[in-house]
Amino acid sequence: ASGYSLLRDPRHNKGLAFNDKERDAHYLCGLLPPVVSTQELQERKLMNSIRQYQVPLQKYMAMMDLQERNERLFYKLLIDNVEELLPVVYTPTVGEACQKYGSIFRRPQGLYISLKEKGKILEVLKNWPERRIQVIVVTDGERILGLGDLGCQGMGIPVGKLSLYTALGGVRPSACLPITIDVGTNNEKLLANEFYIGLKQRRATGKEYSEFLQEFMSAVKQNYGEKVLIQFEDFANHNAFDLLAKYGTTHLVFNDDIQGTASVVLAGIVSALRLLGGTLADHKFLFLGAGEAGTGIAELIALEMSKQTKCPIEETRKKIWLVDSKGLIVSSRKDSLQQFKKPWAHEHEPVKDLLHAVKVIKPTVLIGSSGVGKAFTKEVIEAMASCNEKPLILALSNPTSQSECTAEEAYTWTQGRAIFASGSPFDPVEYNGKTFVPGQANNAYIFPGLGMGLVISGAIRVHDEMLLAASEALARQVTQENFDKGLIYPPFSNIRKISAHIAANVAAKAYELGLATRLPQPENLVKYAESCMYSPVYRSYR
Ligand code: NAP
Ligand code: MN
Repeated sequence: ASGYSLLRDPRHNKGLAFNDKERDAHYLCGLLPPVVSTQELQERKLMNSIRQYQVPLQKYMAMMDLQERNERLFYKLLIDNVEELLPVVYTPTVGEACQKYGSIFRRPQGLYISLKEKGKILEVLKNWPERRIQVIVVTDGERILGLGDLGCQGMGIPVGKLSLYTALGGVRPSACLPITIDVGTNNEKLLANEFYIGLKQRRATGKEYSEFLQEFMSAVKQNYGEKVLIQFEDFANHNAFDLLAKYGTTHLVFNDDIQGTASVVLAGIVSALRLLGGTLADHKFLFLGAGEAGTGIAELIALEMSKQTKCPIEETRKKIWLVDSKGLIVSSRKDSLQQFKKPWAHEHEPVKDLLHAVKVIKPTVLIGSSGVGKAFTKEVIEAMASCNEKPLILALSNPTSQSECTAEEAYTWTQGRAIFASGSPFDPVEYNGKTFVPGQANNAYIFPGLGMGLVISGAIRVHDEMLLAASEALARQVTQENFDKGLIYPPFSNIRKISAHIAANVAAKAYELGLATRLPQPENLVKYAESCMYSPVYRSYR
């Protein structure tokens, strides 16, 4: 290959960091200014320039440009500055990027599979340059973050999630494949926008939709085998539950909105028990919101409780109550409930609103997964504070504007007694001379390590026990020092180490369940996970 094309190949380009010997050997002389830089200096220079942008979207675009120009440097930046750059390459900035994807679009990233490709999906997969794929993140764009249907412009999500698989979990970039399935959009604004990049038609549904997804799932298995992880991301909830149930027994599939959320929230609850006292089964849970996040979390809590107490899950579910847009989910509503809500329809008289539900159920843990900002009112929080010494309050809805309450509200309205964590980040709060640091139940704690655990063990199915294993491993990473600050999650700066422990615990479970194909089992799984992790440090080209 010529030096000129080497400089334009993001996987191998090092820019000014090519040394003189490499420049000689690879026909680069004259194509670069004379100075030879180090990766550290390049990193400092780029961080300086990114910090100068005031607008988050500009930071995002600078990062995307870097990813297309010099992949290792992109990951070096992301790994070394994870707390600062996570909100840039992922939520919340990625949401804005998706909304404006049509106009910021320069070079296509990932693979687009639209209804035009019906009957030819396998051929489309073969157009992707990499053969050895380990993780696919796929969306159909119908429910991007809390932003609704963004159709084909949802591509920002699989691209962003996969860069976290690499940066936080250590999956090689070349083994990651972002995919957007375009079956149309019901977003009228996009349909009317002349710059929209997707199919200008309303969403295919029913048989047409499920046949297209069936073709996709078969093609993926045929092309990449049984060990490729397919992560469904940001599908609308009716499709999300169906796809997970349908393909969970034939493919290695994972839904981060349902299962990843469940695992990260369970970890937070388990570690909060160190502050609250008691076991999981000593607590009572009330959710506002019974969708992908709410029912996913509820089910995993019930499963862990059932494992700990050896009670059947039908029994442990009774400690968990959910409120949806129509009020408390109770047995008299059963006939009209969607399938995924039915297990939560317990015997109780109808209750219309959340405040009333808190008063009659008297939960010890209140979880917001409704997408409704400000839904935890002063009265609701005070009701929690009046029946609990230390109420655990998790306001999970994103973005920040949709959070059920703020950190400050949770601490003030409970006179500093609440243990609080949220989906979107909040700054530390001063109350009565004490500083409270709220935790963030960010899915990025779990999915990269979980994915890595599946990859390194060669797992062929995801089992709920693996979600529990991931939760346990994360909860174990919280230190006494973290607890002293009121934190129920460890700091993100250690995320690669955390991911290695999660990966090891998940892989161990895969071996135990007979779902691992990488044999023999490595002796020290944490060391093995670490040794498999992608390093962004430049290689030397001799
Ligand atoms: P979803 O599947 O659409 O579920 C939303 C649920 O909220 C539904 O059960 C809905 O009721 C209920 N709801 C809506 N308005 C309500 C109201 N006024 N009163 C009571 N309930 C109401 O959405 P999702 O995927 O679960 O996501 C929900 C939220 O969780 C989003 O804001 C998302 O950002 C957040 N989330 C956070 C994390 C995290 O912190 N790591 C992870 C995932 C999701 P009906 O069923 O009656 O329509
Ligand atoms: Mn998501």
